[in-house]
Amino acid sequence: MAIYQPIENSGARRRLELRSPVDLQPFGEIECATAEDVQEAVARAREAQPGWGATSFDERARVVYRFIDRFLERQEEVLSIIERETGKAPTEAINMEMVAPLMSAAYYAKRAERFLRPRRRRISGVLRLQKQLRVAYVPLGVVGIITPWNGPVALAVNPIVQGLMAGNAVLIKPSEVTPLSTQLIAEFFEEAGLPANVLQVVVGDGETGEALVEAGLDKISFTGSVATGRKVAEACGRQLIPCTLELGGKDAMIVCSDADLDRAAAGALIGSCMNTGQYCCGTERIYVVDEHHDQFVAKVVERARELRQGDTGEYDVGALFWDRQLDIVDRHVEDAKAKGARVLVGGRRNPDLKGLYYEPTVIVDVNHGMDLMRDETFGPIVAIQRVADEGEAVRLARESAYGLNGNVWTRDKEKGFEIAKQMETGAVCVNDMAVTYGVHEAPFGGRKASGVGQVNGKKGLRGYTHELPVIIDRSSKNQYKGGYPYSRKADQGTRSFARWVFGNATLRRWLG
Ligand code: NAD
Repeated sequence: MAIYQPIENSGARRRLELRSPVDLQPFGEIECATAEDVQEAVARAREAQPGWGATSFDERARVVYRFIDRFLERQEEVLSIIERETGKAPTEAINMEMVAPLMSAAYYAKRAERFLRPRRRRISGVLRLQKQLRVAYVPLGVVGIITPWNGPVALAVNPIVQGLMAGNAVLIKPSEVTPLSTQLIAEFFEEAGLPANVLQVVVGDGETGEALVEAGLDKISFTGSVATGRKVAEACGRQLIPCTLELGGKDAMIVCSDADLDRAAAGALIGSCMNTGQYCCGTERIYVVDEHHDQFVAKVVERARELRQGDTGEYDVGALFWDRQLDIVDRHVEDAKAKGARVLVGGRRNPDLKGLYYEPTVIVDVNHGMDLMRDETFGPIVAIQRVADEGEAVRLARESAYGLNGNVWTRDKEKGFEIAKQMETGAVCVNDMAVTYGVHEAPFGGRKASGVGQVNGKKGLRGYTHELPVIIDRSSKNQYKGGYPYSRKADQGTRSFARWVFGNATLRRWLG
C-alpha cells in the first residue's frame, strides 16, 4: 500500500490521500497544485517581492525571530505532524525538525546583514588609481525551493530563511509524502508578520514540482534524488536559471588502524541508523582495517542488539517514511545475502510492528559487487567491509558514483585531515558521523552524482542574491578618457607602458 494514494476525482486537480508509515492509516489529503495554480502563485510572488526586497535586514530578522517564537509556542503541533508524516523517533523529531531549523533560522537572522551588506573591494593594477569597486548583494526575485521527505522541516526552514533574509519571495514545494509540516511552517511565518505572498507553499507531487521548475523563477534550490535532480538541472539549464542540487549519497566511513573502536562502533550505529537511515549524509559503507575488523564488528553487533525500535513511548529507531523506501532496503539486503553477505542482526521487516518498520541491521562480508555497497540504500543498515589497510579503504571510499559526505576514525587528527582530502567527497567529518549540514559555516554540497553547488553559510546565503559589482570611475572631469578616437601614437604609448611595467620584476609584482 502506498503512503499516498491517488483519490478518484472529477475536478481539475489530482488529489492524494496521505497515510502514516506508523500504522498505515489515513491522516490527511492534499490537492496537487496544477501548472496554472503555480503560475498564479508566481504572479502573486512577483507582486509581493519588491516590497519585501526593500525592507531592512532588521525588519526581516524581526519576522524570523517572531517565527521562532511561534514555532516554540506551537512545537507540539509540529512534532505531532512529523510523527504522523514520518514515524521518526521522537528524539530525532526534536533534534532534526525543531532544534536544527531553529538554529539555522537564528543564524541567518543574526548574520544576513553582515554577509550581505554592500562592501568595497580593492582593485588591483593601475585601474585602482582610476576606479572604485563596490559589490552589492541584490535579491534574485522569486526563488523556488523543492524539498524531499526525510527532513521535511529542517530542509524547508533553512533555505526559506536564507531566501527571505536575502530579500526574495519564496515558493516552496514540499514532498508529497510530507506536505503538512511545511504548510504549518508557512502558517508560523504568516503569524510572524511576513507580508502576504512573500512565502507560498505549493503542494503536490512530481508534476507540481516540474511546473514550479518551468514557471520562470529566478533560482531553484532542489534537494532530493539524483534522478529528479538531473531533470531539474536540465530544465534550469534550458531556461538559463541558476540552481543548487543537493542529491543522494553513499557515504563511506573509514576505521583506521589507530581508531578508538568503542567510539567508532557507536558512531557507526548512529551514522547508519539515525533517521532510520534516511539521512542524506548517512553512513552507508564502512571500511575497517583487517586487524580491527572482528573486534569492531563484535562491538557494533552488541550495540545494535540494544537498539529499541518502536512506534510509541521511548525508542531509538523509528519507521521508514515511505513504502518505496522499504522496498529498496529489502531489495538491497536480499541482493547482498544472495551474493554472500552475512546478516548478524536484523535483516528483515519488523514482524511486531504494523507500519513500515525495518529492523536495525548489521551486515558483513559485503563488497562492491552488491547493490548495498553501490546504490543509495537509505535504511537502518550497518554494512561493514574488511579491508587490508587504510590505502584500500580510501580507494574503495572513492570508488562510488556519489560523493556527499564521509567520515574517518583515527586518534591522529592530522592523519584524519589528510585522508579526508583524498576521499573525493563533498565534506568529511573526523571522529564523528556526518554533522556538516548542522555546521552553518561549512559550505555544504556534493561532488560527482551527489550534487552541484554548495549551500549554507555566507556562500550559501549569497547564492540567494546576485553579487552585483558596481565600478565607479573616480574622475570627476567632464571629458571622458579612454574612448575614441583610437591612434597609433596612443597604442605605442600603451605598449611602452606595458613593457616598462611587466618587464620589471618589482613593478609587475606590485601591480599584480
Ligand atoms: P525525489 O527526487 O523523489 O523528490 C524530491 C522532491 O522533488 C519532491 O518534492 C518531489 O515531489 C519533487 N519532484 C519529483 N519529480 C520532480 C520533477 N520532475 N521536477 C521537479 N520536482 C520533482 O527525492 P525524495 O525521494 O523525496 O528524497 C530522497 C532523496 O533526497 C535521497 O536521495 C536523499 O539522499 C536526498 N537528499 C539529499 C539531501 C542533500 O542535502 N544532499 C538532503 C536530503 C535528502
